[in-house]
Amino acid sequence: MENKNVNRSDFDQFMVPNYAPMSFIPVRGEGARIWDQNGQERVDLTGGIAVTSLGHCHPALVKALQEQAGKLWHISNIYTNEPALRLARKLCEATFAERVFFANSGAEANEACLKLVRRYAYNTVGAQKDEIIATFNGFHGRTLFTVSVGGQPKYAEGFGPKPGGINHVPYNDCDALRTAVSDKTCAIMVEPIQGEGGVLPAKQEFLQTARELCDQHGALLVFDEVQSGMGRSGHLFAYQCYGVTPDVLSSAKSLGGGFPIGAMLTTGKIAEHFSVGTHGTTYGGNLLASVVAEAVLDVVNQPEVLEGVKQRQEWFQSRLKQIGDQYGVFKEVRGLGLLLGCVMSDSWAGKAGEVMKAAHDEGVMVLLAGPDVLRLAPSLVITEEEMKQGLDSLERAIDKLASQSKAA
Ligand SMILES: *Cc1c(COP(=O)(O)O)cnc(C)c1O
Repeated sequence: MENKNVNRSDFDQFMVPNYAPMSFIPVRGEGARIWDQNGQERVDLTGGIAVTSLGHCHPALVKALQEQAGKLWHISNIYTNEPALRLARKLCEATFAERVFFANSGAEANEACLKLVRRYAYNTVGAQKDEIIATFNGFHGRTLFTVSVGGQPKYAEGFGPKPGGINHVPYNDCDALRTAVSDKTCAIMVEPIQGEGGVLPAKQEFLQTARELCDQHGALLVFDEVQSGMGRSGHLFAYQCYGVTPDVLSSAKSLGGGFPIGAMLTTGKIAEHFSVGTHGTTYGGNLLASVVAEAVLDVVNQPEVLEGVKQRQEWFQSRLKQIGDQYGVFKEVRGLGLLLGCVMSDSWAGKAGEVMKAAHDEGVMVLLAGPDVLRLAPSLVITEEEMKQGLDSLERAIDKLASQSKAA
């Protein structure tokens, strides 16, 4: 029996109004499907905003969590633990990294990256090397430091004095980046694909230029892979798809597959500058989070799963292009792997929100990335049948809106 004693109106009564959740309340999920309080089924193409990378209640994740739940949950960082050590070792073996720091979210992983690059420059050069270069329209989380580095002023306004020493350049603008970087620069921070900013992949040249500028000026290159990482691009991390290696990388979202965890990955030489006592967190590397993330990594980092992402990207892109052409609704379907953005055409400009609402009514959950981009971030192991059901629903929603606007 589901508990029906709470409903959507309780949100307005008891919750801080910083979100505007949909009218229904999901109560159960399996694979890429979710059921709400009324038993209505929807196909989930949101993946909990690029988090539930193996769908809902994947058997390997349920097993890992249940087994650990009866053993030991939390011991603090006064002690280390086996799951965190196994996870750290596997992350190092699978990437450029030699050292890992665990946190509980993307913002906290990025906060650790930002503090580390500042501390590294402070220790190796001096306090004057403190400038961080980031991109307009970037998103790095909601702490005061990460909203300040993220290039969307609306998220940083009204919270008092901001941390200084942060400059922004337009995404994918190599010349602007060259002009901005100097010997005062301690780090460049970028998303290999801007997620919240509109599902915009970096140009190869932009990441390459960032790497070269960092090398010339003794700055560190930080990739925020909170959304792009853990298989979403068809590679374990998107940097591997570009062949441009950062010095520091953040992961979260899909890393836990639905259980909160974040991680900062870096080299041994850089990691030294977070010496004992310089940074920390109570829950980071907790046993429950670590066993789930280890199970996620074990499943995702298999050639057939990563290849499967590329296959699924083709299914999605060809069907979305067909829908786009038939209704004149999208002018472009872009993205990397299973992080896809459908850019609304001029005649549908500003209507991505309406499409999202109609899609939910027709039985499919989709996301936005700004007012003009419909974003999909489905499970990396979504079946062809689930995908077809979801995109059939999306097409029905668009068909209804198209015929309404014709009638009007
Ligand atoms: C979601 C996101 C974050 C923030 O992660 P939280 O877990 O919400 O703190 C940071 N960077 C990127 C690129 C993201 O997509």
